[in-house]
Amino acid sequence: MIIKPRTRGFICTTSHPAGCAAQVQEQIDYVQSKPQIQGPKNVLVIGASTGYGLAARITAAFGARANTIGVYRPSSGSEKRTASAGWYNSAAFEQAAQEAGLKSFSVTGDAFAKETKEKVIEVIKKELGKVDLVVYSVASARKTDSQTGEVYNSVLKPIGKTFTNKTVNFHTGEVTEVTLEPATEKEIHDTVAVMGGDDWEDWIRALRGAEVLTEDVTTISYSYIGSEITQDIYRDGSIGRAKDHLEATALKMNDELKSTGGRAYVVVSKGLVTQSSSAIPVVPLYISSLYKIMKEKGIHEGTIEQSYRLFADRLYVEGDTPVDKSGRIRIDDWELREDVQAEVVKLWDSVTSDNIYELTDLEGYRREFFQLFGFETEGVDYEAEVDPDVKVLHSI
Ligand code: NAD
Repeated sequence: MIIKPRTRGFICTTSHPAGCAAQVQEQIDYVQSKPQIQGPKNVLVIGASTGYGLAARITAAFGARANTIGVYRPSSGSEKRTASAGWYNSAAFEQAAQEAGLKSFSVTGDAFAKETKEKVIEVIKKELGKVDLVVYSVASARKTDSQTGEVYNSVLKPIGKTFTNKTVNFHTGEVTEVTLEPATEKEIHDTVAVMGGDDWEDWIRALRGAEVLTEDVTTISYSYIGSEITQDIYRDGSIGRAKDHLEATALKMNDELKSTGGRAYVVVSKGLVTQSSSAIPVVPLYISSLYKIMKEKGIHEGTIEQSYRLFADRLYVEGDTPVDKSGRIRIDDWELREDVQAEVVKLWDSVTSDNIYELTDLEGYRREFFQLFGFETEGVDYEAEVDPDVKVLHSI
C-alpha cells in the first residue's frame, strides 16, 4: 500500500509506519546524544504511544536504561487501512528496546478500564517485580466508567462567559475569529471526570494494593498553564478545572506516598504540537506564534527535549526536586519567560491571514502535525509500497 495523509478537521486518519519509526528513532537519537540519567529502573507509562507519554518512555528506556511497560489503546492495520500512529510508534519502540537489550512490554487496552489495570499488575509481577516510576499521560475526549458503564465526554469551553479570539485553520493559514459558548455545569463536571485526577489515583491505588510499587516510587502526570492569550479557553476553562483537580490529586497522593519515601507530582509542561493540543481552538495559532519566538531565541523544545530536561534537571537530580509554591514541577519555565510572552502577545495582535506565514511558525506547526502521523519525515520514501499491518513485539 502507498500511504498518503488524509485529514478530517484536526485529525489525520492515516499514518505511515516507516515515518513513525523514523520519528521514534529521532527521539531515541536525541536522548542518546545526551548524558546518561541516573534515573528509574522499571517504569510504567499509561498513555505511552504518542506525545508526552511516548517521550517519557523513550527517555526512561534510552536515557536511563529502564525497563518499560507502555499502556495504550489497541489499533491494527490491514491491507486496506493503516493502524494508528501510536501503534506504529510503539512497534518501533518495542523493536528498538529489544535491540538495545531492554525489557519492554505493551499492554493494549482502555486505560480507564479495571481489566487493563489488572493486566498491567500481572505483567509487572511476572516481568519486573515492582516499578519505581509511573507516568500518567492519558489525554482523551471520552471516558467510560468501568464500574458503572457511564460515559463522560470532555469539552474545551470557557466557563461563565462567551470567549472570542483569533484561531487558525492550520491547513490553509486562514485566520478567523472563533466564539465559544460557556460550558454547562454538567460539561464541566464531565470534563473533570475524564481529564481530572480520578483515573490516575485509581491506577496508583490499584498498583499499591497489589504491592507492585517500590517504597520510593515516583508518579507524575502532566498539566498546563500557558499564556494570557489562551487563559479563557484553557486554564480558566473546562479543561483548566480538570487540571486543577489533577493538581489537587497530586498533592493528596504525595502526602500518602511520602511516608515511605515516594512522591507524586504534576509536571507543568510547555505547549506544543500533539494530537490532543491540535484539537483545542485558538491553541494552534498560539503555539505557532510561540514556536516562532522560541526558535528565534534558540530555546525551542518538543516533547523529547522537554522530557529529557524533566528527567535530568528536575526528577532525578541530587537533592530535592525543585517545585513551585503549589508543589508542581515547572518545565514550562522557558515558555512563560517574560520576554517570550511579551513578544508572542505583540505578534498576536498583528497576525492575519495575509502575514501569518511571516509572523508565526505556522509552517513548522503544520509540518510537525503531519510528522505526528509519520508524514513529512526526512529519509522516508513516501512513494514506496509499505505493509500497514505491523506487529508490536511483546504486546499483551
Ligand atoms: P497525546 O494525544 O499525544 O497523547 C495521549 C495519550 O493517551 C496517547 O498515548 C493515547 O494513546 C493515550 N490514550 C488516550 N485515551 C486512552 C485510553 N482510553 N486508554 C489508553 N490510552 C489512551 O497528548 P499529549 O499532548 O501528549 O497529552 C498528554 C498529557 O500532557 C495530557 O495530560 C495533556 O493535557 C498534557 N499536556 C499537553 C500539552 C501540549 O501542549 N500538548 C502541554 C502541557 C500538558
